[in-house]
Amino acid sequence: MAADALIELRGVNKHYGKLHVLQDIDLTVGRGEVVVIIGPSGSGKSTLCRAINRLETIESGTIRLDGVPLPEEGRALAELRAEVGMVFQSFNLFAHKTVLANVMLAPVKVRRKKKEEAAQRARELLDRVGLAAHAEKYPAQLSGGQQQRVAIARALAMEPKALLFDEPTSALDPEMINEVLEVMRQLARDGMTMVVVTHEMGFARSAANRVVFMADGRIVEDRTPEEFFTAPRSERAKDFLSKIL
Ligand code: ADP
Ligand code: MG
Repeated sequence: MAADALIELRGVNKHYGKLHVLQDIDLTVGRGEVVVIIGPSGSGKSTLCRAINRLETIESGTIRLDGVPLPEEGRALAELRAEVGMVFQSFNLFAHKTVLANVMLAPVKVRRKKKEEAAQRARELLDRVGLAAHAEKYPAQLSGGQQQRVAIARALAMEPKALLFDEPTSALDPEMINEVLEVMRQLARDGMTMVVVTHEMGFARSAANRVVFMADGRIVEDRTPEEFFTAPRSERAKDFLSKIL
């Protein structure tokens, strides 16, 4: 595999019944790289993200994280999965726990960190996403944009090697989108490896090292944002861009 590949998919295939949802997917994400995945609804973007985290099984091909093939199950899988944080469209915070408790939870339960240590780290992370003043609040007391930033802090608390974002701003009111994208831009500047499914083309242009365009379960284009947005090669991409830009 490439010298600095952190996530590598080779010949990955998956069906849902007759639907060939992932077709011979080859994708390499280098350490520190930001790869934005775009494409029409139903093209397989979420399935691809979930496969990388082994939330979905695949039928053929290989997925490696930092050179290690994804284990089938058990403790080895749990450990490897913890190396890739995931942020979803719906924030999935625990409603009955404070913001601080949400961010501390996995390090204490899964990593067996001491509570004081986990709390201190959680406060640092909340500060990093601009929410230091909200640590003792409950999720319902926060805006959608703030809740999503808590979800990002929670993912970071496990000290992942990479973060996957599946449409992290799609459920947000427009005025809250930017505060979440700004946190993601900062993570990118700090060198975090990120795979981001999004319809935010401004983010793709400004933050991505590569844009991967998917359609019908295939990767149709995998290029720099500059190349992709100024001169898409495929009819599918031209058609997609004409509808959203
Ligand atoms: P995207 O995220 O690009 O919108 P998805 O990966 O969610 O696409 O879905 C790709 C296709 O697979 C869609 O046609 C969707 O209906 C189908 N699909 C997704 N999840 C399932 C499932 N659990 N069972 C059956 N079909 C599914
Ligand atoms: Mg999706």
